[in-house]
Amino acid sequence: MTEILDGRILSYKIRQQLKQRITRLQEHKVIPALAVVLVGSDNASQIYVRNKHRAAAEVGLTTHDFKLPETVTEEALLALIARLNVDSSIHGILVQLPLPRQINAAKVTAAIDPAKDVDGFHPLNIGQLFLNNPQSLPCTPHGIMRLLAEHQIDVARKHAVIVGRSNIVGRPIAALLLNADATVTITHSKTVNLRELTRQADILIVATGRAEFIKRADVKPGVVVVDVGMNRDATGKLVGDVDFTEVAPVAAAITPVPGGVGPMTIAMLLEQTVKFAERQIGG
Ligand code: NAP
Repeated sequence: MTEILDGRILSYKIRQQLKQRITRLQEHKVIPALAVVLVGSDNASQIYVRNKHRAAAEVGLTTHDFKLPETVTEEALLALIARLNVDSSIHGILVQLPLPRQINAAKVTAAIDPAKDVDGFHPLNIGQLFLNNPQSLPCTPHGIMRLLAEHQIDVARKHAVIVGRSNIVGRPIAALLLNADATVTITHSKTVNLRELTRQADILIVATGRAEFIKRADVKPGVVVVDVGMNRDATGKLVGDVDFTEVAPVAAAITPVPGGVGPMTIAMLLEQTVKFAERQIGG
């Protein structure tokens, strides 16, 4: 029987725990708050931000919206971040990516106080992660590790193959798996014989943004598959980077899309904000 790594069930459990932690913070007169900065009117970004708001409201986490026009200058955005950095009522800062052309996203990410960097994208936090001294973890990779742990999937000594090397998924999940004693192979669009490598994976993490890129022939039986992809097929249906119908029957465990990695990403964002707020009460 293939085990379904259900992110909805685990994220629900995490959100219930967060409600209790938020109540405790409120008893100490701390109102945990997340600042969400959205530039422009990118459709997908608006949906992501709306989902984050809904999830935050559901656990009782306060969010403050900062909607800036597509034409905003880098200087104005950096000034807003500088203000949020010193505002003690704000515990986490999230700048929704992508940003418009005139803005250097790396500069913006680096301007966020690392102690309020809920997304874990600040170079200092990424560096700490690679030095195996993590402070704030990128939400999607963190959510993947929690999902694996929940299902008692020990990654130590396993061969983990990652397809994709983005800064938000591929690279940080590689570091987390390495820190957890997996042997890690990172593949990408320039990898030669990629499918020979995916077939060697005990744990296969796929984050390419290519609908149903991984097929039955690309995996070995008994593999654990984590599908990060979120793509729309021709009919508008949400599908992953893995062909679930083909791969699930031969896998030991697999994340569904939707309902796998996605809900975990948001749960980790909320948890990180609460963790930052708990510092105010010595937690
Ligand atoms: P990204 O920045 O576009 O990176 C995609 C990566 O896949 C790149 O490293 C690219 O290689 C590699 N790639 C693309 N085509 C390939 C091919 N044919 N063979 C091998 N490698 C290939 O994407 P991302 O931000 O990591 O996101 C990946 C997917 O995950 C998307 O569907 C996104 O929507 C989804 N996502 C989901 C969540 C969630 O919470 N569920 C969070 C983040 C992202 P190169 O580096 O060589 O170009």
